[in-house]
Amino acid sequence: MPNKKNYTKAEVLALCASYMSEARVDYVQKAADFAERAHIEQIRKSGEPYFVHPVQVAGILAELKMDPDTVITGFLHDVVEDTGISLDDIAYFFSPTIATLVDGVTKLGKFKYKSHEEQLAENHRKMLLAMANDLRVIMVKLADRLHNMRTLKWHKPEKQVIISTETLEIYAPLADRLGMNQIKWELEDTALRYMDPESYYSIVQLVDSKRDERAEFIQTTIDELESQVEGAITGKFEIYGRPKHIYSIYRKMKDQGKEFDQIFDLQAIRVLVESVRDCYAVLGIVHTNWKPLPGRFKDYIAMPKANMYQSIHTTVVGNQPSPVEVQIRTYEMHEVAEYGVAAHWAYKENRQVTAKQEQKEIQDKLKWYETLIAYQEEVNDAEKLMKLVKDD
Ligand code: MN
Repeated sequence: MPNKKNYTKAEVLALCASYMSEARVDYVQKAADFAERAHIEQIRKSGEPYFVHPVQVAGILAELKMDPDTVITGFLHDVVEDTGISLDDIAYFFSPTIATLVDGVTKLGKFKYKSHEEQLAENHRKMLLAMANDLRVIMVKLADRLHNMRTLKWHKPEKQVIISTETLEIYAPLADRLGMNQIKWELEDTALRYMDPESYYSIVQLVDSKRDERAEFIQTTIDELESQVEGAITGKFEIYGRPKHIYSIYRKMKDQGKEFDQIFDLQAIRVLVESVRDCYAVLGIVHTNWKPLPGRFKDYIAMPKANMYQSIHTTVVGNQPSPVEVQIRTYEMHEVAEYGVAAHWAYKENRQVTAKQEQKEIQDKLKWYETLIAYQEEVNDAEKLMKLVKDD
């Protein structure tokens, strides 16, 4: 995830069948068929039947193993806005909960974005209030935005810039807040491609031109580390290199006025292990073999980020031409690092918890979210509320 696959309805249902009971899949299918009929006469800008869009949104949510109600909302999220179906119909044919979710997504979508500072704050306020009610509304909205960004090429250039600006200013930060990094990265990279194509493609080219050279020395470091970790820990582990995302390189060049060649951690080495104890064992090996750069060591395992992210980061110098960042975390932490809230929310058949309890659990984990709920009634000032989201 996100694998940018173009799903058919049957493929989304198959994906659901991999983690839901047959009865639940039947229920999802009912929603899929319902949405297909409702959208039958609509065509997307791409010339495809409109139904293709809700199928992809539901597909993204199923990749995240979201619960049946959320996947169903993915299928139904545009029917009230675009067809003759009412919320009462949805409550009648499905459930009041699903009607509420669809209503939340529709309301968020209705809000017209303006890049004016105050309007931006108002946008955030709406998002936050929707989030306070049910985080699943935001999940569907993020999946919706992700697919709209993937198909942005069908819009006029001016519209592309407006939608991309909105994505960078609202949706990517929201995904970040929820720890949904996979989605955040794709939103950011795609938005940059439309807003500043020149910068985007020049970074892509620079990354490509040095790829082999970098890959070679990263591999040497990985091999060396691998042989040492093998003897030191008993559990399973995995070591691999991962390139940085285009947008994060862009920001570094812009914010810190750096040239491409001055950004040394273009690639990071990631180590996945089974236990926290093994994380620190690997850290010991890394720091014994390579010299850590001062000020670059961060222990987000002992002190998780506000969005639940956990990992150890360190940047070391040694036998390579330039310093390299090493990230060490458990497999479980890795799931949370990539999918955030969704990793916690992953649906488990037969688990006796209600959506309300789930919401409470996540609230306990996301400290900022708890604060938001506590403040949302008293903080009517949109700007103050936005500040709350921006500050950690
Ligand atoms: Mn939509």
